[in-house]
Amino acid sequence: MSTILEPGQIEAAASAPPFLHLPPANLFALRAARLDTLAAGHALGDYLRLIASLCRIQQSLLDEPLQAAWSHWLLSLPDAALKPGDNLCQCPACGSPAMAGVIRHRGKFNGLRYLVCSLCACEWHAVRVKCIYCEQSKGLEYFNLEDDRHAAGKAPLRAECCPGCKVYLKQLYLECDADAEALSADLASLALDLRLDQEGYQRLAPNLMLAP
Ligand code: FE
Ligand code: FE
Repeated sequence: MSTILEPGQIEAAASAPPFLHLPPANLFALRAARLDTLAAGHALGDYLRLIASLCRIQQSLLDEPLQAAWSHWLLSLPDAALKPGDNLCQCPACGSPAMAGVIRHRGKFNGLRYLVCSLCACEWHAVRVKCIYCEQSKGLEYFNLEDDRHAAGKAPLRAECCPGCKVYLKQLYLECDADAEALSADLASLALDLRLDQEGYQRLAPNLMLAP
């Protein structure tokens, strides 16, 4: 199967990848809609719908700022104000750890990995096939849950597991599901976390909807 290059993609290949990929201003509404979709027929459907309603509240707060302050602040920042953090896994905008990775599939972002902040939803570029915690590439393995809707090797969510530091990071592959969204996909795949825990892998990426 061939890939059709979009305008900007050819030029982008010759230069450094764009460092930032900011979330859309309706990010919480998109999360809510995605959570509702995932909830249908899901074993944790009621829980996912509950989180969807929380996301709608976040969107209303973002639309009318007093709270949801971090995302509001991020969306008002010029791109150039942000530089890479001390660690690959650290958000350049607010310093919080990454929640997940997203492999983008369109235009100048095609094939690039962006890490999604667990707090402000900023996304920053991090080269692929490299553990974001110990920065080794050796022996990385990718695990996913079995899924009737996707062919083998086409799972939209896979965990990048590092045998060196025994830590994993979930990644979304938008070419396999263009509507996938990090926070909702993370919540809907908690079974994978349980499985990887049994395999001796540790999770360092927080999801604030799961925080006690
Ligand atoms: Fe952040
Ligand atoms: Fe590692």
